[in-house]
Amino acid sequence: MASRKSWRRGGGRRPRISTQWGTSATSRLSHFQTKQPRTAPRYKQPQEAGMVSSTGRANGEPMKLSTHFRREEFACPCGDCRASHDPVVDHTLIEILEDIRTHFNKPIAVTSAFRCYRHNQEVGGKPASQHLTGRAADIIVRSRPSEEVFAYVTERWPDEFGFGSYATFTHIDSRGTKARW
Ligand SMILES: [Zn+2]
Ligand SMILES: [Zn+2]
Repeated sequence: MASRKSWRRGGGRRPRISTQWGTSATSRLSHFQTKQPRTAPRYKQPQEAGMVSSTGRANGEPMKLSTHFRREEFACPCGDCRASHDPVVDHTLIEILEDIRTHFNKPIAVTSAFRCYRHNQEVGGKPASQHLTGRAADIIVRSRPSEEVFAYVTERWPDEFGFGSYATFTHIDSRGTKARW
């Protein structure tokens, strides 16, 4: 697996910027570069996060994010928003998921990842849900009970990230602070 540093660097590609919100690509890009450095707090306004594809890849290019995960697995299920075909996915989230995949050596099903505002409301998500920013995934590790997955991640990363234990899945997010439920 690549180092955390090289994940973050994103291969040096420029972010791909959507103009669907009515501002020019150029002004948006300069805004992104000046106002959203990589050292900024991890939480971004969801609208803003939704504008930037984390790898800068356009439609039609390879959708593989890492050894075991493809971008479409993180798409918004609504089928109606930009994130339903080109979801934002946080690199650190992928690092966490690859670690879990390696530890259990079992396939991981992503049951819910990126959600647009509307879909998040429809499924009763929290208003500031990490699913809105591409930093969260609800996962099932094949033939492993969810409590075992939760026990592993909370021991592996005791002081950071967000982990939620549910009967049938485990919520994983790469927020910059620690949260457990
Ligand atoms: Zn959507
Ligand atoms: Zn979740």
